[in-house]
Amino acid sequence: MQIYQHILVAVDFFEHTHLITERAKALAQLHQASLGLIHVVDNVPMPDPGYGVDMGLEVDLTNNMMATATTKLAEMGTELGIAEDRLWVELGAPKYEVTRVAEENHIDLIIVGSHGRHGLALLMGSSADGVLHHAKCDVLAVRLPD
Ligand code: AMP
Repeated sequence: MQIYQHILVAVDFFEHTHLITERAKALAQLHQASLGLIHVVDNVPMPDPGYGVDMGLEVDLTNNMMATATTKLAEMGTELGIAEDRLWVELGAPKYEVTRVAEENHIDLIIVGSHGRHGLALLMGSSADGVLHHAKCDVLAVRLPD
């Protein structure tokens, strides 16, 4: 059965990530699909130079976060047997970057984690909602423990 050919998993490296990747790996095997991982480093706000703040620190922070994310994603990729060219570390907002990479790489299933949300978090929405609303392909939300 090959309903999906290219599966992309959005990972945030939080504690339940393995629940998502294990399910994704099993689904990829079932569908004989390729499996990829993406992590998006959130844009670090850049202070206006007019404020007199040293910009270098912010650039270093972004670079450090990108480098750390690249290392962590490579480790995860090795554990799951994913080729380097199916690993993406992007800068920006998860809902835009995950869906952009998905479109550019013919992904037909995006897998994200989903937490039960209450109160303010419910009002603000989640990355999973953002991906679901912007994606042009199917999205599977793996329910994570609260
Ligand atoms: P959240 O709604 O932010 O709690 O995250 C729900 C799910 O969205 C996570 O389990 C990931 O699948 C995905 N996600 C959240 N943040 C990121 C990120 N920075 N990069 C990639 N995926 C993310």
